[in-house]
Amino acid sequence: MNKKTLAYHLKDIQHFYGNTKVLDIDDLKIQKGSITGLIGPNGSGKSTLLKLLAFAQKPTCGHILYNGQKEFPFSPTIRSKVTLLTQKPYLLKRNVFENIAYGLNIRKDKRHLKEKVKKALRTVGLNFEVFAHRKWHELSGGEAQRVAMAARLILKPEVLLLDEPIASVDTKSAKLIREASLKARDNWGATLVIASHDLQWLYSISDMQLSIFKGNIFSTGMENIITPPFEKYNKDLIAKKLTDGQIIKLKSPSPKTNTAIIRKKSISIDLETQKDLNILNQLHGHIASMLLEKKTGYIMSAISIHDMSFILRLTPDQISTLDLYPGKKVILKFQANDVEWI
Ligand code: ADP
Repeated sequence: MNKKTLAYHLKDIQHFYGNTKVLDIDDLKIQKGSITGLIGPNGSGKSTLLKLLAFAQKPTCGHILYNGQKEFPFSPTIRSKVTLLTQKPYLLKRNVFENIAYGLNIRKDKRHLKEKVKKALRTVGLNFEVFAHRKWHELSGGEAQRVAMAARLILKPEVLLLDEPIASVDTKSAKLIREASLKARDNWGATLVIASHDLQWLYSISDMQLSIFKGNIFSTGMENIITPPFEKYNKDLIAKKLTDGQIIKLKSPSPKTNTAIIRKKSISIDLETQKDLNILNQLHGHIASMLLEKKTGYIMSAISIHDMSFILRLTPDQISTLDLYPGKKVILKFQANDVEWI
């Protein structure tokens, strides 16, 4: 990977809150102009990572290269190049125009200010005449988030970091925010890092997906995580019991408190069970969703196994041969020793 094409290079990053380690990343590179999807359950460290990438917080250990240079929070070279939009937008207690023009005013860039604000508002689907003079408290949650987005886009940031930007907005605002973020990449080559539970969105636009769990980035791409508690099954295997009576058997050389990963490539999908071979898991469930992965042409499929969800990458061939569609009952198969522990 050419150094010049890297927006970020994180090295030996650890971050603690008090005595608790919440992030541990040995080496992470993010390409300029790329879109990275951050996927992980609540509390896994996504917001913390985004704050570090925004240089809003300094990692406890390690360093972050930005465009090949070591950078630190509040450095003047970084301000306004890198911007973070969070789930709950922060607006100044002023009107919409002033909120959006704020960054350019700070830069003393007053040229064509009104036109630029108009354009930024248009990008997020808000009419200038209607909204420019509204006060910060005269906006719905979704409109406020769109104003916060416009306030960032007007600065044409090199990096746009989005932390659950559409988690608490209406459908129309979510659509406009999704489109506006893509424009930042397409129109001026911004690098995007997005944490979202909207996997369909992430898979359809991102070049790289990072799974983050307990502060560790353990792979690129989404894998299947099975969390403790586990019970003893027999002398070689431990079991995760699902509340519907199904059992996931796993080979365990490690303590029972660890977390298991089953990689997508280890799982196959079928319509019938086969003779039980002791170490073969055969889990009954149904297809919850299917979506096309932009880069590869594969269909990312979520399979619900009672209260768990597994992700599989299926080929168009598999889909037509097995006649798969959302709602269809299927059987997932993987070997008990196809497990990795973290
Ligand atoms: P996510 O964005 O994936 O939900 P966070 O980065 O917000 O995860 O949190 C990671 C862990 O750090 C969680 O256990 C959370 O409780 C903890 N945490 C986050 N912010 C703070 C803070 N300011 N002080 C102490 N603990 C925090």
